[in-house]
Amino acid sequence: MRIYDDRYNRERLRFHVALRFIRLEARTQTIRRWTGLTDDRIRKLYRSYLADDARPLVRHRGKSPHRAALFLRSARARRESALLASLCRLLGALPEQRGPQCSLTLPSLRRAELLCQAYETYRALVGEALLTFEHAVFLLTTLAQGAELACGRCHGCHALVVIDRWSLGEPRCSVCTQPATDP
Ligand SMILES: [Zn+2]
Repeated sequence: MRIYDDRYNRERLRFHVALRFIRLEARTQTIRRWTGLTDDRIRKLYRSYLADDARPLVRHRGKSPHRAALFLRSARARRESALLASLCRLLGALPEQRGPQCSLTLPSLRRAELLCQAYETYRALVGEALLTFEHAVFLLTTLAQGAELACGRCHGCHALVVIDRWSLGEPRCSVCTQPATDP
């Protein structure tokens, strides 16, 4: 019975995570990679979700974000990436170990839940979010791989900032970058 219960609970968790990903407008390939569900099961989940929920759902079919530079391209992008990365680290979604193999070992149901929690908190904190959930998945993956982006510490206040791995400048958060104003 124990084995049956464990398996049953795991399947429940798998569907729970997939539904949470659907609500956050994740792409089918992302749901498949993180939950291990087949495309057919995901399609059925989409259908049952739409039947239960009156809210319109955006289903993304195109390419996932794939350029790390987008997290650093504006002050707002840097500020929101730093917040999201901080939440991923605080909640434990970002693994301690970094490396190229991380994109393979990263997806798990437990980490998926932590990532959802980090992204939902980010959305609640910023109001109008610049970054989508697909951006969050991409940011987490890129930070875990550590080839293009890394977590750095602001030289002014030690807050976590997302930095270009090969940048030589001193990292600074958005607050410490602002010009000093007269008292
Ligand atoms: Zn700072």
